[in-house]
Amino acid sequence: MSALFQNYNRRPVHLVEGKGTYVWDDQQKRYLDFTSGIAVLTLGHCPEELVQAMKAQSEKLWHTSNLYTSHAQEKLAHDLVKDTHLAHAFFCNSGTEANEAAIKLVRKHTKKHKMITFEQSFHGRTFAAMSATGQAKVHSDFGPILDTFEYVPFNDVAALEAAVDDETAAIMLEVVQGEGGVHVVTPEFAEAIQHICDEKGILLVVDEVQTGIARSGTRYAFEQTALKPHIVTLAKGLGGGFPIGAMLGTAELFDTFNVGTHGSTFGGNPMAMAIAQTIVDVTFNDSFLEKVKASSNYFKEQLAIHLPEVEVRGMGLLLGIELTQPIPEVVAACEEKGLLVVGAGANTLRLLPPLNVSQQEIDEAVQILKQVMLVNV
Ligand SMILES: *Cc1c(COP(=O)(O)O)cnc(C)c1O
Repeated sequence: MSALFQNYNRRPVHLVEGKGTYVWDDQQKRYLDFTSGIAVLTLGHCPEELVQAMKAQSEKLWHTSNLYTSHAQEKLAHDLVKDTHLAHAFFCNSGTEANEAAIKLVRKHTKKHKMITFEQSFHGRTFAAMSATGQAKVHSDFGPILDTFEYVPFNDVAALEAAVDDETAAIMLEVVQGEGGVHVVTPEFAEAIQHICDEKGILLVVDEVQTGIARSGTRYAFEQTALKPHIVTLAKGLGGGFPIGAMLGTAELFDTFNVGTHGSTFGGNPMAMAIAQTIVDVTFNDSFLEKVKASSNYFKEQLAIHLPEVEVRGMGLLLGIELTQPIPEVVAACEEKGLLVVGAGANTLRLLPPLNVSQQEIDEAVQILKQVMLVNV
């Protein structure tokens, strides 16, 4: 019997080494990694910049706690909000923690507790973030969850209008529902949300844990929509493989998130800051973002050419293809042929290459997908 709790449905592959978009198992079999550790490996496996940043910081200072001033946190916070309408950052260690901070901040700021989230959303596994998640399977067997979330069908303006009232503190959404099946917010829905928030003084929280840090082709996915969130949450891609989370907020929230409100022992630790700063330095510039958009367009074009019958959704390098075959079978067949992919929602295969993926690697992945689809159809 395993010494591990069996809370994950793991593939038997044992990955031991990675470089760029490739990863090797303990049998020296090579795979093209189009999971990126679920949208985490922004620059691929073991990128030189991060290895150097990690080495340099590891010889200087690992941890201080938040008892002391941190110039590294100040700098990263500044760079994350630069040229946006946001003003401040709080650092933690994961996506669910970032959302936990956001939910606490919403409640403290508004003195209300009703929040609207969406069906098929995913916001994490801690109690508040789990309660925010609009999927019954995530809640089941845990007893009473926070009962202040109302789950509204995604991209349904009438349902949203009907759900909002004077007690509504906030609306919280993902620009692309990642875990829920790669569903993108429609322009009309984004406009309706923004309009409702403006009109009724409701806070807007955008969960960019999966979409943030250039994965969508812009620094944050909300930048491609009408949404102007008061709070943005980040994690996955921000650390490129090192655990970190962040909550960004507007200036009006500054006084609410005051001394003693919230905290984290590890949050903003020097190792995490050195690595995340490197990620932001590399990704937050026009030439990098243009390359992500170009790779996204190329990937979508190739999928349209080679798999014309499948629907492709998503933004940037967070793409999903809707399939009729059982996803676990497709994942296993791709793996057999040397391509790692992950499911989302009921029938969607998620394609999440590192943001610096090459055209040749995209070609290779598309060829494997095509072979697998032909065999399985
Ligand atoms: C993965 C994810 C989370 C949870 O992040 P963890 O780091 O696993 O806690 C929250 N929101 C979204 C949109 C995610 O994709």
